Amino acid sequence: MKTINEKIPNIEEIEKEIGSFLSKKFGGTVRLASTVPLSQEEETERTGCLGKNDKKLNFDLKPESLISYLDQYIIRQDNAKAVLATKICTHYNRIKTFNSYPDLADDMFCGVKNNVLMLGPTGVGKTYMIKLIAKKIGVPFVKGDATKFSETGYVGGDVEDLVRDLVREADDNIELAQYGIVYIDEIDKIASSHNLIGADVSRTGVQRALLKPLEETEVDMKVPHDPISMMQEIERFRRTGKKNRRVVNTKNILFIVSGAFFDLAKIIQKRIANNTIGFGSTTPKTRSYANVLKHVKSEDLIEFGFESEFVGRLPVRAVLEDLDNNDLFEILSNPNNPIILGKKLDFAAYGIDIKFEEKALRILANRAFDENIGARGLVSAIEKALIIFERYLPSTKIKKFPVTADAIENPKTYLENMISAHNEKQEKQYTDDFDRFVEQEKVFIRNYLIANSNSLSQRYNLTLTQSRINLISDYYSSHIMDVGVIIRKIKTLCDEMKNFELKFFKNHDTNIVIEDDAIDFTLEQVVNSSVKPEDIYNKISINFEYGLKLIKEKTGKNRFFITRQALIDPDAYISDILKNGLGETEKQPEKG
Ligand code: ADP
Repeated sequence: MKTINEKIPNIEEIEKEIGSFLSKKFGGTVRLASTVPLSQEEETERTGCLGKNDKKLNFDLKPESLISYLDQYIIRQDNAKAVLATKICTHYNRIKTFNSYPDLADDMFCGVKNNVLMLGPTGVGKTYMIKLIAKKIGVPFVKGDATKFSETGYVGGDVEDLVRDLVREADDNIELAQYGIVYIDEIDKIASSHNLIGADVSRTGVQRALLKPLEETEVDMKVPHDPISMMQEIERFRRTGKKNRRVVNTKNILFIVSGAFFDLAKIIQKRIANNTIGFGSTTPKTRSYANVLKHVKSEDLIEFGFESEFVGRLPVRAVLEDLDNNDLFEILSNPNNPIILGKKLDFAAYGIDIKFEEKALRILANRAFDENIGARGLVSAIEKALIIFERYLPSTKIKKFPVTADAIENPKTYLENMISAHNEKQEKQYTDDFDRFVEQEKVFIRNYLIANSNSLSQRYNLTLTQSRINLISDYYSSHIMDVGVIIRKIKTLCDEMKNFELKFFKNHDTNIVIEDDAIDFTLEQVVNSSVKPEDIYNKISINFEYGLKLIKEKTGKNRFFITRQALIDPDAYISDILKNGLGETEKQPEKG
């Protein structure tokens, strides 16, 4: 038998050729995987078997907690959030259960999967929602477009390409990819059209080709017509010497398909009108589009142009609503939304802080709304409004830019006035505006935290005390970070403080309980004054170890509650205990 090296006489040449093919097809960022042999450990990880140490998938999620997670990011879409979160949780929990009882496997699935059909216009959060869910569960996610399937001609090849992409998304971990999510948009475009006879054949063909993957099929990682996959497999063989056929089973892959389905409303309305005397003639016209789609039945989808088997593979349906001006404004104001954070980062790249006036955000939301592409219009509306500032401000000494309604409506004049005011050292009006927006932002974040305090406390496992709420809003206002990241930061610090109690006990054989107000006091110092946590711990050790040891020796008492006041004035705290006895200082802990 020939060795693999004989089969590939000149690897550099092949690499070069494939490299230029890849960059032509995907752009400069895509390159051929390294030919350096992998270590045993890396190889085990890449063979696609989830080992004990591999990343744990979050299959324990309950629908309610996934919904409340989505609520933090997604405005409106309650129906879609509920349906998707519930069915996706069930899908993964079912996999988990059936993994523990392999004998039941086939009975449990019976070929029925919770594949989802989403109905809703562009830019209302379909992709965003699925991405968030995939991230939360820890499974790979890929998105494709059904119109590409019909255009390329080789029916069936494309959905398999998406499945292979899933493996790439999963860093070549086939096992993980087999739990992934494949999202196919514009699915309404493969419904057979009523007037295009020619196109009909291929559209129906695409639907048929999707039937098997939607249920269960095996997708080969190696594809004869695809030089990239061929090269990857040869490369893999060269590295490992193993010639096993690598296939991805789609049984547990969740397929979510979506489309705007504009003409479907008419079909539904007609059916309802025929079935319900009087209903069709009065109600439907006054209902919103989503309200009509909500009544969708399989027969409507079949009339729309889908084969009945195809419809049968999509048992779960979620309807998304149109977003109005106010919704778009809420998206912009949501402290977890990346759009405004992204813009702040653009200016921060030049050392410029920007703060938005509420009225300015409303104008931007209105402009985005007029584009009629849902929330997708937000980014372009902001880019268009701020580009002039992004161009000129970096060349000035201006470091604070209050984005007022006037700045959005009359950008040129506003910019000129701001620059000349700055040059003449009369920028007070601008700094006042800026400071006012900072305060407004803090109040907004505080209210947001209070309103969501239950779900946030649960999610991050952190009690949101008033002082922590203040701390988080101050931090949000002075840093470009989403609220979740800040809360996580605070939580880590709190955990560290609890660890410090243990460490103190180990080192000094003395129990200390750092009270909530003392934890918050420490957090304030770390967050606001950038004091290092270790320095604070060292200081507590130095300030308390001897005093507490002394009390312990004298009284035999071995448990001390460190309050905020104790941290501020440790000597007074210790002498107070010595003077007044232990009763005064031994507070009962109120909270954990
Ligand atoms: P589509 O429905 O076409 O898949 P996307 O989910 O890609 O739209 O939305 C584009 C962007 O708009 C998202 O990345 C997100 O920032 C924002 N967005 C869209 N809908 C919502 C929503 N309901 N709540 C919050 N943000 C949204």
